Amino acid sequence: MKWTKEAAPVERQRRDRAPSAYQQAMRDRLLAAPVVPAHAAELEPLRRHLRDPSFEFVVGPGWRALVLLCHEAVVAAFPEYELLAVKQKWAALSFQAFPRPWKRGGNWTSDEAVRLGALLAEFTAASEHICERCGNAGTLRESRPIELTLCDACEPCVGPDGRL
Ligand SMILES: [Zn+2]
Repeated sequence: MKWTKEAAPVERQRRDRAPSAYQQAMRDRLLAAPVVPAHAAELEPLRRHLRDPSFEFVVGPGWRALVLLCHEAVVAAFPEYELLAVKQKWAALSFQAFPRPWKRGGNWTSDEAVRLGALLAEFTAASEHICERCGNAGTLRESRPIELTLCDACEPCVGPDGRL
């Protein structure tokens, strides 16, 4: 399914909800000073889970620590999880994964899929409050064709193309 503008409002409603205790703890941890954006090399542990080893992680430096935390949480529950993509979608983190490598006939239960989905949703929700450029507290920015989550300091530093 191709994502369209029409699909967005459903996802956006989540922003108005109060964060869960888990999300709040994660946010507190990530936003504890000093915030230092993780180096791209810190995402190396995710590589062996990639279906396509040539995939490049397309998230800004401010989210790398969150992505690493997400990987650690997922690998703890699903040691052989399969990673399809890590990207930004509608200003939120999209960590696309399966509980185990995909196989014809199935390789995981629906319960496992639900558990993984719930886990990933926590990190997506956390990303909605973290600047993708620097890792400080951020909010949704709709000033350019692409929606981004940025802090006040980073908002003027990013051009209309959304490149971080
Ligand atoms: Zn920022």
